Amino acid sequence: MSGLKPGPVLKHLGQTKLELGPVGPGDGPWRRGEADGIVWLVFDRADTSVNTVSRDVIEALAAELNALERDTPRAVVIRSGKPAGFAAGADITGFDEMSVDGAADLLRQGHDVLDRLAALKCPTICVVHGAALGAGFEIALACDWRIAVEGASFAFPEVKLGLHPGLGGTFRLPALIDPTEAMTLMLTGKTAHTDKAKKLGIADVVTEERHVRAAVDAVVAGDVERNSRGLKARAFGIGYARTLAARQMRSETEKKAPKEQYPAPHALIDLWEEHGDDRGAMQKGEVESFANLLKTDTSKNLRRVFFLRQGLKDAARGDDGIAHVHVIGAGAMGAEIAAWAALKGKTVTLSDVELEPLGKAVKQAREVCKGQHLSGPETRDALDRLMPDPNGYGVARADLVIEAAPEKTELKEKIYAGLAERMKAGAVLTSNTSSLRLTDLRDGVADSSHFAGLHFFNPVSKMQLIEVVRHDGTDDDVIDRLAAFCGTIDRLPIRVTDYPGFLVNRALTPYLMEAMVLMDDGVEKEEIDAAAIKFGMPIGPVALSDQVGLDICLHVAESLKSNLEKPMPEISARLREKVEAGDTGKKAGQGFYDWSDGTPHPEATGNGPDDLTDRLILPMLDACVECLRKGVARNVDEVDGAMIFATGFAPFRGGPLHYASARGFDAVRDRLAELEDRHGPRFAPDPGWQDL
Ligand code: NAD
Repeated sequence: MSGLKPGPVLKHLGQTKLELGPVGPGDGPWRRGEADGIVWLVFDRADTSVNTVSRDVIEALAAELNALERDTPRAVVIRSGKPAGFAAGADITGFDEMSVDGAADLLRQGHDVLDRLAALKCPTICVVHGAALGAGFEIALACDWRIAVEGASFAFPEVKLGLHPGLGGTFRLPALIDPTEAMTLMLTGKTAHTDKAKKLGIADVVTEERHVRAAVDAVVAGDVERNSRGLKARAFGIGYARTLAARQMRSETEKKAPKEQYPAPHALIDLWEEHGDDRGAMQKGEVESFANLLKTDTSKNLRRVFFLRQGLKDAARGDDGIAHVHVIGAGAMGAEIAAWAALKGKTVTLSDVELEPLGKAVKQAREVCKGQHLSGPETRDALDRLMPDPNGYGVARADLVIEAAPEKTELKEKIYAGLAERMKAGAVLTSNTSSLRLTDLRDGVADSSHFAGLHFFNPVSKMQLIEVVRHDGTDDDVIDRLAAFCGTIDRLPIRVTDYPGFLVNRALTPYLMEAMVLMDDGVEKEEIDAAAIKFGMPIGPVALSDQVGLDICLHVAESLKSNLEKPMPEISARLREKVEAGDTGKKAGQGFYDWSDGTPHPEATGNGPDDLTDRLILPMLDACVECLRKGVARNVDEVDGAMIFATGFAPFRGGPLHYASARGFDAVRDRLAELEDRHGPRFAPDPGWQDL
């Protein structure tokens, strides 16, 4: 077995061999084996690479418990047989069809089984490698002990589905660790990686995979000390202390997840405040609250977002045939694209006309690894795979070349001309351009059938979406390989055609430009941004323009204005002035906002026009309809997914087109026509609304 710690990179390379004790091959979901009086139960659902918890998993566990209760062993070890990790949570595929009562019944059945696991009269030990999420985490919590294999992580992502834990997490985690830490994990969905899990007391032991058996023996022999929760936990046994803490939690939660839009975390705070000292009441309350939340629009829409992500992931399967990537241009985008690809296992060479950006790129790559919680050896391996290459020797070996040079047609053409003789046969050339047409760039490319767009978003390590752009001469196979490449580097591809702004910038730019028109009309920027945030956007359009860079916004807006049939908002004179003065936004410290003191938090002033939100949001919806009509994107789900994963479009609304459908397509079209009468032809509804 490899002496290196298993983690994302090793897993990716398939080098992890799991210690499964006496358990041999067989059918899941639970495979059983016994040695030295210790029963090992290996969680291994058939026909899937990732374990999820469903009714049949719980029923099969109940059957195992029947045997364990009759004939109790010295200890029980539970672990996953999947290299990918412990478990990804509950299987949510059937949730839409469930009634409130049906869901509550199913949950009660699950609670009963986990209570029986918790009550077994022998030590129960859960070994976790990879992620233990949601219901998977709850199985781990029902055990007496948790052994975390290096790289393991624990999280309750239910809030991201408009829910809270539903299989006992709401009372088992606060009973195990500091309740405020437990609540924070459940309210935010944040992950406790190995070190944090140990520090918090979720994991009793942290070890490497090859020492798992020894760790199990140590726990059974009583050689492992347990973390104690200390005074803080006891203090929260008092109702008044919980009320004070709950008040604080509510105000923090309201800032990020307003109750009106995201009811689940607020429901959890209510539960804990009311029943935090009464396990039985908490258990009953958890089941009822979870079943009710399942029926909220927010949860339905967030589950839709989950499936949209799955859909985009499914479109990213297949063999990319790409081992070596060469990136041209080590600036804001190229440096991080290179780092990310190396981190995900690709061999990467990175060239630039200047040396300084190459040096910076390596430093930045280290930061990206840190942000992804890579261990020392994993970071070293990722950095070994990333090679600064000032002379561009890597071009000749690369299966994929990504050009991320400045946004100038002549410059890009010159670069392509220089690649013609050097790229190997069958290699693919892509541009990260945001605003240039591939059709205009491809003439300079040696083999335009192997030329496409790979449009990453900034910052690459945080933004999940990549637009895979085809022009009318790109080979289908090349697009499939590029989509698969996105999958191998853990990003979500959307296939789009070569349209001005592609999909995302086409839809987003009118929103940003309308904000500037509103400012020109005298509406305060804070009011504009607050309105967008109230709608559910993660950041207002003025602050977003500053973040993207006002020079980039101006460039994209000019390009769209001259290339689209439809009228766009006039480009604000103030935007041009800002760019000319060098106040290009966050990167310059000054744009529309002053960024020298960090991110602005705009407060509503109450002085906006009554159609403010619609003026911002509806043009975005309209552009999505136009893109569908023009065949820029393939379907409603991909459009919604792309807008959510690239722009953060109000996830609880399920995507721009889903929002339009909930509001009524006709109603949205009529409202656009009204805005057109009031403000001009830029609001004219697209003919595509009729086809929806
Ligand atoms: P940048 O100016 O930060 O970086 C460009 C880099 O290219 C610089 O380091 C420069 O030295 C280098 N360069 C210049 N000429 C070169 C040449 N002939 N060969 C090799 N390297 C050369 O630019 P950026 O913001 O990273 O943008 C790069 C591309 O990505 C553009 O096409 C842009 O439209 C696109 N893009 C940018 C963003 C963004 O938010 N910045 C987002 C998506 C796409």
